[in-house]
Amino acid sequence: MRADSFALAFVGVALVLLLLAPLLTVRRTAELRERIEEVAEPARDATTRVQFELARQMSALRGFLLTGDTTFIARYYTRLEDQEATLEELDMLTLALGAEAAAAAATLRHRIERWHDQVEPLAPGQGQGLSAETILNDQRLYEEAIGSAVELDRVVGRIARGTRARIRRAERQGFLLTLSLGAIALLATGVLIWFGRRLRALAAEAERQRNEAELALEATSEASRARDRVIRGVTHDVKNPLGAADGYAEILEMGLKGALPAEQLHIVGAIRRSLSSALAIIDDLLDLSRAERRELPFSPREVALDELVARIAEAHRGALQAAGQALDITVPSAPVMVATDPVRIEQVVGNLLSNAAKYGGSGTVRVSLERFPDGSPDGYAAVVVRDEGPGIPPDQLETIFDEFHRVHPEDGRGHGLGLAIARHVARQIGGDLTVESVAGAGATFTFRIPFRRGARADRRAAGSKEEHA
Ligand code: ADP
Repeated sequence: MRADSFALAFVGVALVLLLLAPLLTVRRTAELRERIEEVAEPARDATTRVQFELARQMSALRGFLLTGDTTFIARYYTRLEDQEATLEELDMLTLALGAEAAAAAATLRHRIERWHDQVEPLAPGQGQGLSAETILNDQRLYEEAIGSAVELDRVVGRIARGTRARIRRAERQGFLLTLSLGAIALLATGVLIWFGRRLRALAAEAERQRNEAELALEATSEASRARDRVIRGVTHDVKNPLGAADGYAEILEMGLKGALPAEQLHIVGAIRRSLSSALAIIDDLLDLSRAERRELPFSPREVALDELVARIAEAHRGALQAAGQALDITVPSAPVMVATDPVRIEQVVGNLLSNAAKYGGSGTVRVSLERFPDGSPDGYAAVVVRDEGPGIPPDQLETIFDEFHRVHPEDGRGHGLGLAIARHVARQIGGDLTVESVAGAGATFTFRIPFRRGARADRRAAGSKEEHA
């Protein structure tokens, strides 16, 4: 989940909770208030009424005692019925208030019954046997019953106070919850706004960079197109007069306009060498320009790479020997068939061998043809050219493939285009050209050529013994 959607979800949840929190508080406090209003207060009211009924019963009994009038006894029983109904109401209410209140109500009923048990046996015959002594003697039981009612009132009062405290607590918690949720929602909104700004800034920056990159790309390709135009135009224009100059020099050299003295002949020879070097550079530039655009002619056909590589290497044996180097060629005994253009293979391998002759010191140059992975349909053949020369400094292992790059520009050998062209060619035919080198211990160039259509023929030969050519 992205951070901005997380913050958004967070704000959403906080807002929902923000709405729910007061509702929950109201619901919770409403329940508690209902308990006070519908249970605790009516219970206290009923307790008061029970006390009142008890007092009226006592006063009826005393009235009878004083006057002997039996209507007082009838009044006693009426009060008794009222008190019974109130006690039943009280039982239900105290049950709802919990064990403590229910126990206090049970005690009250028990004490009232004890008082009645003492008083009533004397009363059933309309007051016969009821005397001042019995009433006064049972005063204690009456007071205990009143005392129980007071105790019940106290218990219910305490429960009501506890419930009120719970209401206040719930309201306080609800308030704090709302406050914290509000703060969280505010914070999350802030984070969201910050994210939004940051995202917009990042998007704007990305857009700016994309535009810059597009402009740079456009400028680069324009520069490269312009350079190509210049190379093609200039090289063509320069190549023709240079060729003509070489032609004239050749006429002089051959003595067709009269024999030249030895010194002048020497100078004409030097002119022709310079001209052919310039023409070689022009050819390389044209090749590079075409190779970069992948426009070098490429006519693939089924080629026995083992034979081709051996032939190319042999063709360089003389140059290598002249440079004081031995040549060792290793190719598989069975044909390595590859669908490729032999002209391009020769262009790359020839460049590696002439470089070995120029820069490979005086050891042995080893040319080998290998298959990777052996027998695999997606494999490739690799022409490896190793020399025992000074090698290439580690920091220049890649830059030697750049155009005009030379490790020792001062030595005047080459002009730094061969490897650049060779790598383009290798890539154009679906392969690659890489180098490994340990400074002072020679260089190993690996030219990979994909099997492509020739792979099947080569796979048949895979596994056969290799031999030194
Ligand atoms: P050129 O040979 O015309 O200068 P290349 O592109 O073929 O151009 O080579 C670029 C540079 O890489 C060379 O100038 C040379 O310094 C270095 N180089 C190439 N081959 C070797 C090698 N076998 N050993 C050491 N250095 C090499």
